[in-house]
Amino acid sequence: MADEEEFPQVIPLNVGGHAFTTTLMTLRRHEDSMLAAMFSGRHRATQDAEGRYFIDREGTYFIHILNFLRSETLPPYDISAQVYREALFYGILPLMEQLGEHIRHQFLSQIPSYTENLERMIEHARKEAMSAYGRYSKVPVCIFKNAFEQVKARQEDPDLDPTIAEEYVEEHECKEQEGIASFGPWVGIPTEGDLIECIILDLADKGYKCINEYEAGGAPTCKKFWVVEKPESFADASASRKSKIVCKKRLYHFRFKWW
Ligand SMILES: [Zn+2]
Repeated sequence: MADEEEFPQVIPLNVGGHAFTTTLMTLRRHEDSMLAAMFSGRHRATQDAEGRYFIDREGTYFIHILNFLRSETLPPYDISAQVYREALFYGILPLMEQLGEHIRHQFLSQIPSYTENLERMIEHARKEAMSAYGRYSKVPVCIFKNAFEQVKARQEDPDLDPTIAEEYVEEHECKEQEGIASFGPWVGIPTEGDLIECIILDLADKGYKCINEYEAGGAPTCKKFWVVEKPESFADASASRKSKIVCKKRLYHFRFKWW
């Protein structure tokens, strides 16, 4: 049977070797969280040699969990992702929700001209709708996490065009130029699919109904490639020293629905 008397009102904690002191009320703030469950009286809590309640978890960011439980204080912006993982572990959904917004914002802020690109998409979609009064307008959009990929080229590769310049050139007639907007490149965990979802969500926030017609990663890429010669020192005897640099820019189609 639950015995709430089992815990004192002031709780000494040991989180992976870091000591904290808080109240039982703070730990129980969000009743669905793991911390509330741990101090509900339904489970037996582990204590260390000093009698502090022990949580076997790296404790570096725990102070931010505690600050949120105490007064809804959010951690510094630049450690949002780290604290998000802790919030996930402790099951504190309101904190996850707020930090999720930060992480999304951090991701989008490293996409060059994100907001301008959205505006360009809207402008194109509106123009097309006005000229035809159609239910839909289609907006071609270039999205790429990495602009280029380097792959090993086989000597007999039928794709290898001997007339192609041996030099890697960034400027070229790219599919990107057919797009109304161009998103990328970026680093980190988020995928092209994540960016597509962000675009659709942000357009929805502005009141536009929009879908993407391709699976993430499924839109056609630019076909352009260059053959490059690897320096002698990197070549191993058995493999070709030639490698191929492929343009990875994909052209997606977004479809706006007007009525
Ligand atoms: Zn290209």
